[in-house]
Amino acid sequence: MRPPPPCVDWAYFFDIDGTLAELAATPASAQVSPVLQKRFADLQTATGGAVAVVSGRALEDIDAIFGRPLPAAGQHGAERRDARGRVHQTSRARRAAIHRARAAIVPAIAAQPGLLLEEKGHALALHYRAAPRLGPMARRLMRVQQQRLGPQFAVLNGKCVVELLPAGVDKGSAIRAFLNEAPFRGRRPVFLGDDVTDEAGFVAVNALGGVSIKVGAGATGALFRLADVRAVERWLVARDAPAAPPRARRRT
Ligand SMILES: [Mg+2]
Repeated sequence: MRPPPPCVDWAYFFDIDGTLAELAATPASAQVSPVLQKRFADLQTATGGAVAVVSGRALEDIDAIFGRPLPAAGQHGAERRDARGRVHQTSRARRAAIHRARAAIVPAIAAQPGLLLEEKGHALALHYRAAPRLGPMARRLMRVQQQRLGPQFAVLNGKCVVELLPAGVDKGSAIRAFLNEAPFRGRRPVFLGDDVTDEAGFVAVNALGGVSIKVGAGATGALFRLADVRAVERWLVARDAPAAPPRARRRT
């Protein structure tokens, strides 16, 4: 079902890859088009800043894509920059554990050039987009590390990627954290995402009577759907123009 047109009273949360940027061969080559960057900035202005990015990427990486620091949850919410610019993040001990897991996986994948290991700080991602047949191996390697680290960590499967990250971290909790703060508080939440990792965000938004939008095909708990990144761009244009100030009546 097509989503209702965007409204300036809502709070907006966007995934990046597959939602605002076409999926690319490697995370480093993804881009948000200048048109979508402009739509995003216009929406920020129209909503009084109630727009945030909720991505699996690291904050540093999100900043590089947009060229400016936005309110953003990075690494599925393991780090989050609120609207005032303060950064909230998981503990140093957990980051050290992620680093140890990376060191354990490096030799295991040395002979597999189709696997790309990305240490993001709070999360470790093993990408297999270049060699989808290596998916089972990637998932197994990460599961072993999760078992070694224990229940404080979890494995999250996405599109051609498997991630190891602190347990309890997901896009739903990241969205709820933003909604506790101005200027998001009290607004109807809207979340757009394309991947299985976005489903936690859809669940959170649905529970709050919000607008959940799945981008692309596939089973989802989202209430609405847009076909692709271009459809997201077109949907954002459909936003109602801010009401014009009433014209002063000329007395005669
Ligand atoms: Mg995505």
